[in-house]
Order: sequence, then C-alpha cells, then structure tokens
Amino acid sequence: MNDRLAALHAARRVLCVQPHYDDNDLGMGGTVAALADRGVEVHYLTATDDLVGVLDPELADDEATRRLRAEQHEAGAILGVAGQHWLGLPDAGPYDYYALRNGIIRHIRMLSPEVVFSVDPWLPFEAHSDHLRVGRATAEACLLHKHVRLRIDPEVDAGWTPHSIAAVGFYFTSEPNACFDVTASRTRKHEAIGAYRTQLTEQEIAGLRAGLSGIEQRWAAAETFSHGEALRILSPGAFHVNLLPELL
Ligand SMILES: [Zn+2]
Repeated sequence: MNDRLAALHAARRVLCVQPHYDDNDLGMGGTVAALADRGVEVHYLTATDDLVGVLDPELADDEATRRLRAEQHEAGAILGVAGQHWLGLPDAGPYDYYALRNGIIRHIRMLSPEVVFSVDPWLPFEAHSDHLRVGRATAEACLLHKHVRLRIDPEVDAGWTPHSIAAVGFYFTSEPNACFDVTASRTRKHEAIGAYRTQLTEQEIAGLRAGLSGIEQRWAAAETFSHGEALRILSPGAFHVNLLPELL
C-alpha cells in the first residue's frame, strides 16, 4: 500500500470540502463509497449555493436550492455519505475569504475529522475562483483550526477539544502522489453522478461517465488494480513555510 494512503486507511471520520454540489462525487466519489463501505464516517461540506450551474434560467432560487439539495442527498445515499453541510456562499460571486475559511474551521472543530479533502487549488490553469478559494481556504483551515486563540464560533468553540488532522488530500490534481483503488466502488460513483439532473443534461452525464471511465483506468495504469482515483495527500505541516520537503 502507498504509505500516503496510510492515514486514510486509519481514519474513522473524513471531511470532504467542495466548492459545488457535485465536485466531491466527480473527483473522489469512488473513494468516498469505498471508505463508507469500511465504516468510515464521511461528511461533505459544500461552500457555495451552486445556483450558477443550474440549467433552467427561469427556475426560482429557492426551488433550485431545494432540488440541488435533494439531488445531493440522493447521490450521497448511493455513496454512503453520513452528513451533508452547507455554507451557502454565492456561487462564482463575491464572498469574504475569512467567512469561507472560518466556516471550514467551524466544521473541522464540530466534526474532528482525521483526514480532510478538497479540490487542488494549485491545479495549473484552474480558473474557477470558487475552486481556487475553497481549496486554499481548506488548506489554511487545516493549518490553523487547532489554535485556540483563533475564535470562530462561541457555541462550537465551547464544546471543542483541539485534535490533529493526520492528512489533507486533494482531488482534481495534476500532481497525484497516491491512487485509491475504486475498482469495486466506481459504478456507484457513476450512478451518483446521474442524480444531478438540475445541473447536468443527460448527454453531459453520459459524457462524464465515459470520460471518467478512461481517466480511472489511466490513473491505475501503474497499479495492481484496474481503476483508481488520483489524489495528492499531504501533511497539514506542508502548508506553511515548508522546511520539511518530505511533508509534500
Ligand atoms: Zn466545482
């Protein structure tokens, strides 16, 4: 086993922070399903309201939100996601970086995950500001969450005991250092993606499934299994004046 995955294999609770409703499922849905099968408690935190991605321009925001959340629950039930949490920031819009980062810290303090995932904000040519902001804010949240003088929420902070995050993982990465075996769980990821009917046409869903099948095989080309998901797994210590290059 790749030792980068050791922290993930030892984890009992994992938090996956995503910019939009379907990012976790597209980027690591097979990993999520495999972890859930092993009894790992997997939580999703969705940063934005995702309303820009809704196909129907006439659909009212509250109805669109209701449908998006229902679809997310449907997909989550297929994968075995234990909890869905939202920050509700405006999709592709202006929002305060510290509101985002502190919202992530609040959930880290509430849930005490051993491993936290998000999109890789250092993906070359990534242009979507939600992905850049959420990936970076997740990295900073994993660095700073345990500092007791960083006060976030009186209620949460009062019932919180600082803990250590063993590893931070990024998906949608160009520099993976681990590949998770999704040979047995990938069909559930592909099924879950089909839930996002408010955002994706049937044609788009079919295209994503076909594209992902090829990518999963390419990622696993050097492995002993046939299909994988590429991850960049780091120590939270890598996120500040990195004096220990082995943390990367
Ligand atoms: Zn996204």
